[in-house]
Amino acid sequence: MKSYIYADCAATSPLKQSAFEMMIPYLTDVFYNPSQLYSAALGAKRGLEDARDTIASCIGAYPDEIYFTSCGSESDNWVIKSAKRGIITSAAEHHAVLRPAEYMENCGHRVVFLNPCDTGEVTAQILDSAFSSQDNNDISLVSVMTANNELGTVSDIAALAEEAHRHKALFHTDAVQAVGHIPLDVHSLGVDMLSASAHKWGGPRGIGFLYIKRGLYIQQLIKGGSQESGMRAGTENVAGAVGAAAALEECVTNMCKTTEHLICLEKIITEILDAYGAEYRRNGGKNRLPGLMSLSFPGFDGEAILHRMDLYGVCISTGSACDSRNTEISHVLKAVGMDERSALGTVRISLGDFTTADDARVIGESLVKIVRKD
Ligand code: PLP
Repeated sequence: MKSYIYADCAATSPLKQSAFEMMIPYLTDVFYNPSQLYSAALGAKRGLEDARDTIASCIGAYPDEIYFTSCGSESDNWVIKSAKRGIITSAAEHHAVLRPAEYMENCGHRVVFLNPCDTGEVTAQILDSAFSSQDNNDISLVSVMTANNELGTVSDIAALAEEAHRHKALFHTDAVQAVGHIPLDVHSLGVDMLSASAHKWGGPRGIGFLYIKRGLYIQQLIKGGSQESGMRAGTENVAGAVGAAAALEECVTNMCKTTEHLICLEKIITEILDAYGAEYRRNGGKNRLPGLMSLSFPGFDGEAILHRMDLYGVCISTGSACDSRNTEISHVLKAVGMDERSALGTVRISLGDFTTADDARVIGESLVKIVRKD
């Protein structure tokens, strides 16, 4: 099989070996339904609850604040569809937030879609001015992503949560791209709800979670059995939860080292582009996810760059992976007001802890071969 340089970790990441090994017993011998009362099932129950404990400690939560879901989209939908009154969100959110927000609007709720700064950041000031508009006096929920999946920009979530609370609204953050990649402590951030998805941090696909602050009651997601404290019925994905926890623990333990490594790799790529005088722009704010590079090559076609990179054996993305069949300018680049020429020539490179300096050199040199004008 052809081996690729995988540089699309923001779309999904390879399963970490530690996660895979921890999952095996729960996919084989310890297959039991964790709700059953016989002693054999206790191992499955223990695996699930240990995973919950580990995940909680990785984000500064209490275990009873973690509700397992199947993915980030499910967690986001759960929150947005639970809003009691109006919602403020940003126009640069993932579709997992935007689509349910549009649904709520169609159901008669007031929904405000804020435009972030040109870096993709949503500031407390932007949020405050939305609250100051007379039309927006019935807002019960604010939802702003921690890190943008196309630009990598990280917003000041503590300041946004404080601003939402000042206006008596709950605050949710879609932290799907951030958990496992930057330090996050839900209690010190002051968020009420936070969505996450394991396949973005080297855990398996098919498992995510929603953090709900203790004492906050939102509507049940799935009615049925009493799993997840009666909030989301359905026999639990024990192996998924165990793998998610193992991978997250590894990410958090190695976070400083990984960040340093990713910043070195980014430098290798930009130095190669600079050395060849490539005309490009690095997008996003000062505060960015390590390893996520949104690069615009004005006058080029991002999709054509992607296909040529593929021929060089490198997997990258144009904008968001979830938009890969849509050749229009991504809604995120539109929301930050990027000019059409740059937006159409934008690609996203997202590196992982497994990416080597040689991989980064190949990525930089392949890009140069594609965008060099001589
Ligand atoms: N939110 C953000 C910011 C994302 O990047 C993604 C996936 O790319 C999602 C939500 C959806 O996550 P999932 O694929 O786990 O449903």
